[in-house]
Amino acid sequence: MILIAAAVLLIAVTVLFTLSVRTKDMPVPEPVSPVRHLEQRRAAIYENLRDLQFEYRVGKLSDADYQQTKLGLQKELSGVLAEIDRVNSGGPVTAKAAPAVKPGTVCPHCNAKFPKPLKFCGECGKAMA
Ligand SMILES: [Zn+2]
Repeated sequence: MILIAAAVLLIAVTVLFTLSVRTKDMPVPEPVSPVRHLEQRRAAIYENLRDLQFEYRVGKLSDADYQQTKLGLQKELSGVLAEIDRVNSGGPVTAKAAPAVKPGTVCPHCNAKFPKPLKFCGECGKAMA
């Protein structure tokens, strides 16, 4: 009984060791674009549509089969395209511009901020422009 337990433990340790080494050896994954899998899907659908058209032209598919499969692919494609649009319109946060600062409201000398544009800084008295 002890021998069996020892054997099981040994196997478990070996498997865990192998798995942990493999995980460490794996290359660090590249940062993936949020739409990358969608673009791959879109490319696959375009390819399927091309194949479908080819098979229809060489007479492998009936008219009804062609239309039905084409409609299914186009429906899937429009869903993928809408998803790409949705992800892209969300956009990365860094792309958004900082809120514009009104000229004359921040002192270039001491960085004091004022709610209204001033000719001279209320903090250090120097010209704001
Ligand atoms: Zn100032």
